[in-house]
Amino acid sequence: MLGTQKRIALVAHDHMKSDLLEWAAYNKAALSSHTLYATGTTGKLLEKHLGRSVTKLKSGPLGGDQQLGAKIAEEEIDMLIFFWDPLEPMPHDPDVKALLRIAAVWNIPVACNRSSADFLITSPLMGKQYDRQLPDFETYSNRPIAI
Ligand code: PGA
Repeated sequence: MLGTQKRIALVAHDHMKSDLLEWAAYNKAALSSHTLYATGTTGKLLEKHLGRSVTKLKSGPLGGDQQLGAKIAEEEIDMLIFFWDPLEPMPHDPDVKALLRIAAVWNIPVACNRSSADFLITSPLMGKQYDRQLPDFETYSNRPIAI
């Protein structure tokens, strides 16, 4: 169950950081009732821009993307705003892919660009509880393995 107060992860690749900061500043009031998590550099910039605290993990290429992925799997993150750069190869591309994959596995809302982030932040569901449907992980975990 996603609560009324969402735990939102924010990540932006270097060329997308100004976009994310602008978006976050514009939506500062809407974000104020939610808890923010971010990869290291994105988080540092967000704290400065928004004048509020953000839980900062390691920088993305140093493991921050994987830390966020782990938090999603632990059901500690409700939503991902991830402005990844579609025009730049990244040294940590496997981590980027893994983060997007785990967000899909755990069925959390994801926005990868500004317009989808606008649609998400203005959704009436932002201030409501949301019963997120999850696949039957029990059956998967208990699947028979022939040894
Ligand atoms: P950063 O990481 O916020 O530490 O720059 C973002 C990323 O590249 O995943």
